[in-house]
Amino acid sequence: MTLTIQELIQEADRCVACGLCLPHCPTYRKTGSEADSPRGRIQLMRAVAQDILPNNDRFKQHIDLCLSCRSCESACPNNVNYGALADTARAVFVPKKRLFSGLVKPFIRHRKLANLALWPLWFLQKTHLLSPLKKLVPTAGFLPNITEPVSWKPLYASSAPKKGAVSLFLGCTSQALDQATLTASITVLNALGFDVHVPTRQTCCGGIARQMGDAEESARLVATNQNVFDAAMPILTVASGCGAGLCDYLSTHHIQDISAFLSTCDWSDVKLSPLEMRVFVQDPCTLRNVQKSHQAVYQLLKNIPALEVAALPGNSQCCGGAGTYMLNQKEMANSLLNDKLSAIKSNDVVLLATSNIGCSLHIANGLRAQNASVTVVHPVQIIAKQLVFKS
Ligand code: SF4
Ligand code: SF4
Repeated sequence: MTLTIQELIQEADRCVACGLCLPHCPTYRKTGSEADSPRGRIQLMRAVAQDILPNNDRFKQHIDLCLSCRSCESACPNNVNYGALADTARAVFVPKKRLFSGLVKPFIRHRKLANLALWPLWFLQKTHLLSPLKKLVPTAGFLPNITEPVSWKPLYASSAPKKGAVSLFLGCTSQALDQATLTASITVLNALGFDVHVPTRQTCCGGIARQMGDAEESARLVATNQNVFDAAMPILTVASGCGAGLCDYLSTHHIQDISAFLSTCDWSDVKLSPLEMRVFVQDPCTLRNVQKSHQAVYQLLKNIPALEVAALPGNSQCCGGAGTYMLNQKEMANSLLNDKLSAIKSNDVVLLATSNIGCSLHIANGLRAQNASVTVVHPVQIIAKQLVFKS
């Protein structure tokens, strides 16, 4: 929710400065600075909103360094809506509209354009030219293996006894870089008896626009989704970053993380083959602190016989991915990533499940740099792989 200045001041006034959120804040833990803590940021936002402090570069730096992980919100006994405060501060005080408009906006606004951009990347990979590009352009290092772009059908009907119908939210990053998870989700939902609707005019959740301080663009994208999705069906998300944004801003629809939905389904007619190994689960902050569905991932994976499911130690702390954060706050993003890589190494992780494409890209990039052979994958892909189809 984006607030007015007056509402921002009122919400900030609800913070009683108890400091209970401080130990949960990744940036405060790293810098030890009150200005990089939730309590400090709330005080700064209110002071700038009341013209007590100037909206200068130092203020912007403290707001920019916030990951929007919302750990503070989960810890706050007074339920201060930090997410709304941060979204408003970004929109009103720290806009980056020019950069956002020029580089990113066309791709997130027009799904077909993003799809078109995938073809040359896929071709470069096919012709083994993507690896040299990754060395030349640092941000290209985040690119995973690009699969052949999929043209999504509006409906994937189930041939199993019908249990219902759902809508699938593609998400701009997932549909570009994680088509395997979207395809796996359709496969699993169909096997369980659900028809899957994929509205062709759906667009970005608006999260990147909000992060870049463009509230108008974000509202436009939310309105498009509101019109194209059927409010009678749940909208399932495969990236918790998108799911959190939709939960916050698309209140007319029922939004659910795919694992949360699948974990409550009847699995008695579906057989999963055993998998004798241990999978570690990384909890994305948006799944823990906004959708509050992280436990469903463990529940879902436990449907696989013989699979041992464990939480990655340090799960309450952000990995540093945080949307575009990993690209524009590299020092903090890498420091947080190193903590995750250490946890992965010290626990001999070989299979890591995560429900957010941003976390997945960031962690996999760090693992690649260390030549670590760890598979990072969405939990639904693990389930889909174990499905036994009756002949
Ligand atoms: S959202 Fe995360 S990084 Fe930002 S203040 Fe809250 S806990 Fe700290
Ligand atoms: S826990 Fe809540 S009330 Fe306490 S300092 Fe943090 S935001 Fe303010």
